[in-house]
Amino acid sequence: VISLPAPPPPRDDGDEEFWTATTEGRLLLRRCDACGTVIWYPRPICPSCHSTDTSWTDASGMGTVYSFTVVRRGVGRFATAVPYVFAYVELAEGPRVMTNVVDCDPETVYIGMPVELVFHDTGERSALYRFRPTSVGQQLP
Ligand SMILES: [Zn+2]
Repeated sequence: VISLPAPPPPRDDGDEEFWTATTEGRLLLRRCDACGTVIWYPRPICPSCHSTDTSWTDASGMGTVYSFTVVRRGVGRFATAVPYVFAYVELAEGPRVMTNVVDCDPETVYIGMPVELVFHDTGERSALYRFRPTSVGQQLP
Protein backbone atom coordinates (compact mmCIF):
# COMPACT_ATOMS: atom_id res chain seq x y z
CA VAL A 1 0.00 0.00 0.00
CA ILE A 2 1.40 3.39 -1.00
CA SER A 3 1.21 5.79 1.89
CA LEU A 4 -0.29 9.18 1.26
CA PRO A 5 1.85 12.26 1.95
CA ALA A 6 0.87 14.14 5.11
CA PRO A 7 1.61 17.83 4.52
CA PRO A 8 1.13 20.06 7.56
CA PRO A 9 -2.19 21.93 7.56
CA PRO A 10 -2.34 25.72 7.57
CA ARG A 11 -2.54 26.98 11.14
CA ASP A 12 -4.61 29.79 12.57
CA ASP A 13 -4.65 31.44 15.94
CA GLY A 14 -6.98 29.53 18.21
CA ASP A 15 -6.67 26.07 16.69
CA GLU A 16 -3.59 25.01 18.65
CA GLU A 17 -5.60 22.81 20.99
CA PHE A 18 -7.26 21.06 18.05
CA TRP A 19 -4.00 20.23 16.26
CA THR A 20 -2.16 19.31 19.45
CA ALA A 21 -4.90 16.76 20.15
CA THR A 22 -4.32 15.17 16.75
CA THR A 23 -0.72 14.43 17.75
CA GLU A 24 -2.18 12.53 20.71
CA GLY A 25 -4.48 10.51 18.46
CA ARG A 26 -7.59 12.47 19.34
CA LEU A 27 -10.03 14.23 17.01
CA LEU A 28 -11.74 17.04 18.87
CA LEU A 29 -15.25 18.13 18.00
CA ARG A 30 -16.91 21.25 19.27
CA ARG A 31 -20.30 20.64 20.91
CA CYS A 32 -22.88 23.27 21.78
CA ASP A 33 -23.74 22.99 25.47
CA ALA A 34 -26.97 24.92 24.90
CA CYS A 35 -28.61 22.87 22.11
CA GLY A 36 -26.35 19.82 21.68
CA THR A 37 -25.34 20.51 18.07
CA VAL A 38 -21.98 19.05 17.11
CA ILE A 39 -20.16 21.85 15.32
CA TRP A 40 -17.86 21.27 12.35
CA TYR A 41 -15.51 22.83 11.50
CA PRO A 42 -14.60 23.69 15.08
CA ARG A 43 -15.54 27.25 15.99
CA PRO A 44 -16.65 28.96 19.17
CA ILE A 45 -20.17 30.01 18.13
CA CYS A 46 -22.95 27.47 17.53
CA PRO A 47 -24.31 27.81 13.96
CA SER A 48 -27.72 26.52 15.08
CA CYS A 49 -28.51 28.67 18.09
CA HIS A 50 -25.63 31.20 18.15
CA SER A 51 -24.69 30.26 21.68
CA THR A 52 -21.07 30.77 22.68
CA ASP A 53 -21.52 28.09 25.33
CA THR A 54 -19.52 25.41 23.50
CA SER A 55 -16.89 22.90 24.58
CA TRP A 56 -14.56 20.27 23.20
CA THR A 57 -15.52 16.63 23.04
CA ASP A 58 -13.58 13.67 21.65
CA ALA A 59 -14.87 12.09 18.46
CA SER A 60 -15.52 8.37 18.72
CA GLY A 61 -13.45 7.87 15.58
CA MET A 62 -16.18 5.89 13.85
CA GLY A 63 -17.88 6.97 10.66
CA THR A 64 -19.17 5.99 7.25
CA VAL A 65 -18.17 7.08 3.75
CA TYR A 66 -20.70 9.73 2.65
CA SER A 67 -19.17 10.58 -0.72
CA PHE A 68 -15.85 9.92 -2.41
CA THR A 69 -13.79 10.11 -5.55
CA VAL A 70 -10.72 8.20 -6.63
CA VAL A 71 -7.93 10.62 -7.53
CA ARG A 72 -5.90 9.26 -10.43
CA ARG A 73 -3.73 12.26 -11.19
CA GLY A 74 -2.16 13.96 -8.18
CA VAL A 75 -0.14 17.12 -8.01
CA GLY A 76 3.05 17.92 -6.11
CA ARG A 77 3.79 15.43 -3.36
CA PHE A 78 0.63 13.53 -4.27
CA ALA A 79 1.71 12.81 -7.85
CA THR A 80 3.29 9.50 -6.92
CA ALA A 81 0.56 8.52 -4.45
CA VAL A 82 -2.18 7.91 -7.01
CA PRO A 83 -4.63 6.36 -7.06
CA TYR A 84 -5.96 7.51 -3.70
CA VAL A 85 -9.35 8.26 -2.22
CA PHE A 86 -10.61 11.74 -1.45
CA ALA A 87 -13.78 11.52 0.60
CA TYR A 88 -16.35 13.02 2.85
CA VAL A 89 -16.80 10.84 5.89
CA GLU A 90 -19.87 11.25 8.05
CA LEU A 91 -18.79 10.93 11.66
CA ALA A 92 -20.90 8.94 14.09
CA GLU A 93 -21.50 12.29 15.83
CA GLY A 94 -23.01 13.73 12.64
CA PRO A 95 -20.55 16.11 10.97
CA ARG A 96 -19.18 15.32 7.52
CA VAL A 97 -15.45 15.88 7.26
CA MET A 98 -13.23 16.20 4.20
CA THR A 99 -10.58 13.51 4.39
CA ASN A 100 -8.93 10.53 2.74
CA VAL A 101 -9.75 6.84 2.98
CA VAL A 102 -6.49 4.94 3.30
CA ASP A 103 -5.07 1.46 3.89
CA CYS A 104 -7.21 -0.18 1.23
CA ASP A 105 -7.58 -0.64 -2.51
CA PRO A 106 -9.42 2.49 -3.75
CA GLU A 107 -11.62 0.24 -5.90
CA THR A 108 -13.09 -1.39 -2.79
CA VAL A 109 -14.39 1.86 -1.28
CA TYR A 110 -18.16 2.40 -1.40
CA ILE A 111 -20.72 4.87 -0.08
CA GLY A 112 -21.85 3.73 3.34
CA MET A 113 -18.60 1.87 4.03
CA PRO A 114 -17.86 1.77 7.78
CA VAL A 115 -14.56 3.46 8.51
CA GLU A 116 -12.45 4.34 11.53
CA LEU A 117 -10.08 7.15 12.33
CA VAL A 118 -6.32 6.96 11.81
CA PHE A 119 -3.76 9.73 12.15
CA HIS A 120 -0.84 10.53 9.87
CA ASP A 121 1.80 12.64 11.60
CA THR A 122 2.96 15.66 9.59
CA GLY A 123 6.16 15.98 11.62
CA GLU A 124 5.22 19.55 12.44
CA ARG A 125 3.17 19.32 15.65
CA SER A 126 0.06 18.09 13.91
CA ALA A 127 -1.41 14.95 12.43
CA LEU A 128 -3.93 14.56 9.63
CA TYR A 129 -7.16 12.76 10.45
CA ARG A 130 -7.86 10.08 7.88
CA PHE A 131 -9.98 6.96 7.81
CA ARG A 132 -9.54 3.30 6.98
CA PRO A 133 -12.10 0.55 6.58
CA THR A 134 -13.03 -0.84 10.00
CA SER A 135 -12.29 -4.28 8.55
CA VAL A 136 -8.59 -3.34 8.39
CA GLY A 137 -8.51 -2.77 12.15
CA GLN A 138 -10.26 -6.05 12.83
CA GLN A 139 -7.47 -7.94 11.04
CA LEU A 140 -4.81 -6.52 13.35
CA PRO A 141 -3.87 -8.38 16.53
ZN1 LIG B 1 -26.46 25.52 19.85
